Amino acid sequence: MNFTPHGKHLIAGDWVAGEKTFPSEPATGPAHDFAVGTPELVDAACEAAEEAFWTYGYSSRAERAKFLNTIADEIEKRAEAIAQIGSQETGLPEARLNSERGRTTGQLRLFATHIEKGDYLDRRHDEALPDRQPLPRPDLKMVQRPIGPVAVFGASNFPLAFSTAGGDTAAALAAGCPVVVKGHSAHPGTGEIVAEAIHAAREACGLPEGVFSLIQGGNREVGAALVQHPRIKAVGFTGSLGGGRALFNLCAARPEPIPFFGELGSVNPMFLLPQAVASRGAEIGKGWAASLTMGAGQFCTNPGIAVVIDSPEADAFINAAKEALGGVGPQTMLTDGIAEAYRKGRDRVAGGTGVRELLATSCDLRNATPYLYETTGENWLANHELGEEVFGPLGLIVRVKDADEMRQIARSLDGQLTCTLHIDAGDTELGQSLMPILERKAGRLLANGFPTGVEVADAMVHGGPYPASTNFGATSVGTLSIRRFLRPVCYQAMPDALLPGDLRG
Ligand code: NAP
Repeated sequence: MNFTPHGKHLIAGDWVAGEKTFPSEPATGPAHDFAVGTPELVDAACEAAEEAFWTYGYSSRAERAKFLNTIADEIEKRAEAIAQIGSQETGLPEARLNSERGRTTGQLRLFATHIEKGDYLDRRHDEALPDRQPLPRPDLKMVQRPIGPVAVFGASNFPLAFSTAGGDTAAALAAGCPVVVKGHSAHPGTGEIVAEAIHAAREACGLPEGVFSLIQGGNREVGAALVQHPRIKAVGFTGSLGGGRALFNLCAARPEPIPFFGELGSVNPMFLLPQAVASRGAEIGKGWAASLTMGAGQFCTNPGIAVVIDSPEADAFINAAKEALGGVGPQTMLTDGIAEAYRKGRDRVAGGTGVRELLATSCDLRNATPYLYETTGENWLANHELGEEVFGPLGLIVRVKDADEMRQIARSLDGQLTCTLHIDAGDTELGQSLMPILERKAGRLLANGFPTGVEVADAMVHGGPYPASTNFGATSVGTLSIRRFLRPVCYQAMPDALLPGDLRG
């Protein structure tokens, strides 16, 4: 089948064209024209979202669960076309698009089951104590309520699982919040077909038009207008530190500041403890190379830094990583801009003081090949920019003198999505001394694994101190992500008939 996008926005139930268009820039296949977004369309979508909130924000959990499940069904119905256009636009293989589709529909269904159980509401009740001295206590009930319309920025590197119907959208809809998506200009056709699925599900479930809108990009004014729109009450974002920070600042500068849940950069350091390196250094090296090059390294959890104590065993780890990385050919990146940014990042690392090249390859156009560099712990500590993310398959090994220098490296880290320990039983003491430091640095700590591959589950945390995320108390993956779009409300001495449905009875 051949899917040809019509190139329109979806504004509150209507497909809207525009005078100006921008062309998509697919890795393969034909380019298509898409309507450029405007602040007027942002306004129309946000006003409709506010209007829809008066219904959707008071819908039952069963109604919203049905909507989420129906979106998943409608996405499955379009599976073939989604894989085709998604692969053309992003350069990711169709097999990856298919597995990401499974993750997206699984996420929607998991959230449906989760809200039906109701635990996420964190309902609390302090019964009245009329005879308490010196003062009586009133009856107090608390429940989490949806916050209002939410803006979502799709991520370039997850065109399905973190884009139009991805984690942020699923979480906001599960909470009871209408959503306005700013489509990512790297995959506008994929965004369009997924929006068609949401549109069909909304109609099938009889929900108001303003529950979901998609505004295509092609103009930076759209994102700025969206986060500043007075009807928008929170933002979900995955992308670059620069873009995220600019939008975060706009949210903070609004007359009514709103939370900006941005998931930005992370280098996801791995700490290789000596006994683990001695017993299986080469195996860890091979595993690291596979994790680092998966999806051309375009994962926010890509483990870009490995910290290892200098020893002959460390050489076995380094040689195995180098050999495995040397066998990986060029991979297509998501956009020309991301490929260019990768090469700039490579030049920055390669030109850094005290950095030694271990594996030099060559890539151009929209391709990435792996690079491997090494530096000393002392040099790392003196050059803070070596800790900045390079989005792509580039690894940097930090060779430290001893355990003390390893702890200093840990202390020097910026906020991370993940930190990993490779550890054997003989390393326990050093591991114990690192844990209190790493716990303050990252949202997820792993032992003997690799951070790529984020499970969508109840206990998952995909977030961390800045700059990993702009809100370290939250996660953007897993059922806890729904909490971002809720706020607690306390009802004091309130008659039952006036309480929200979730508190009645
Ligand atoms: P991006 O440039 O930050 O763009 C993300 C979204 O925000 C897009 O919709 C973009 O609009 C919009 N945007 C960015 N800056 C804006 C501004 N100043 N005003 C209004 N809107 C703005 O991220 P990207 O395109 O996904 O990738 C570029 C870089 O992001 C990569 O090289 C990589 O370093 C990083 N990245 C990190 C992660 C991660 O998970 N940590 C994931 C993906 C990418 P347009 O569509 O108009 O560009």
